Amino acid sequence: MNHAALELDRISLTYGTIVAINDVSLRVERGEFVTLLGPSGSGKTSTLRVVGGFEKPTSGTVRIGGETVNDRPPYGRDTATIFQNGALFPHKTVAQNIAYGLRMRRVPQPEIERRVREILAIVALSGYEDRYPAAMSGGQRQRVALARSLVVRPTLLLFDEPMSALDLALRLQLRAEIKRLHEELGFSAIFVTHDQGEAMSMSDRVAVMAKGQIEQIGRPEEVYRHPANEFVFTFMGESCRLPVRIDGRAVFDSSGQPVPLTLVAPPGPGEWRIYVRPGHVRLLPKASEGLPNQLEATVQMVEYLGGSYRYHVQASGLSLVCDSSSKLGFGPGDAAVASWLQEDMRCFQ
Ligand code: ADP
Ligand code: MG
Repeated sequence: MNHAALELDRISLTYGTIVAINDVSLRVERGEFVTLLGPSGSGKTSTLRVVGGFEKPTSGTVRIGGETVNDRPPYGRDTATIFQNGALFPHKTVAQNIAYGLRMRRVPQPEIERRVREILAIVALSGYEDRYPAAMSGGQRQRVALARSLVVRPTLLLFDEPMSALDLALRLQLRAEIKRLHEELGFSAIFVTHDQGEAMSMSDRVAVMAKGQIEQIGRPEEVYRHPANEFVFTFMGESCRLPVRIDGRAVFDSSGQPVPLTLVAPPGPGEWRIYVRPGHVRLLPKASEGLPNQLEATVQMVEYLGGSYRYHVQASGLSLVCDSSSKLGFGPGDAAVASWLQEDMRCFQ
């Protein structure tokens, strides 16, 4: 029978009165790369520690490869964990660090040497066998940590924000490397991060966590384009928040001024928050026939962001942000029209 790499069945974990994990169920298929994405304190590390055997759940069942492992210590599970800081043995060389898990498993010496050589080539560190961790860069140390986990060929690899101590360029490089290794070696993985770009670029599925619970789980596009709730929408990317009152099809800003927005499916009367992402807002010099949602606006501020330009505008009582990859001919004080498509707008109450 083909068991899932991991099944968490209604896991809870409390520390005294603090609920770190609140009734979480999760299934990771063999070969699947699943990311736990959420803000600090949402329970990502706790969940990973329960899977790795560093923490015993207060209730619920952990199954790895179909076997219940609740009572097994970390070394009795088919998992390996890669921490934020690599946690290498400082007094051991690279080769000794990587060989450690194989020695513990009593793998014969010639095979250890062969596998250490192999894995060093895979993480592009051939020739570094005799280095000590202190004589390597942060990125190299994380690749050693990766090699040390991969060399024991665990069913399930657990990553706890392994890139958060690295600078952007290294982070992007290691991200690509982990992705390549996943495709090449076919392990299953749970990857923890608070960076939604990282989560979306690496994962087969993303589980968005808040307050010890999974708010939504799905393919990256699914979660990004069809967020289950306001929290997921705002956490998956920047957004403009427009507080409005809706009455039938009419929309009003907080000062009671009507706002010319077209609601395809009016969500019902009352106070709502409409959201649109800066990348979905277009700024035009003047009103244009056939475009929905055209709001007269005044440009407040222009920011240069490197890859794009950001325009802060005020439209009636609403503050909007528009990101444009090319420079637009607007400066502070200029009149403009802000517009976006129906499908790029979300209402939450
Ligand atoms: P994340 O990794 O998403 O930042 P954690 O899983 O580390 O979140 O923490 C979830 C919650 O559990 C937080 O409220 C945190 O303060 C609490 N917590 C984590 N570890 C402990 C612990 N050892 N003792 C008490 N509370 C803890
Ligand atoms: Mg954490």
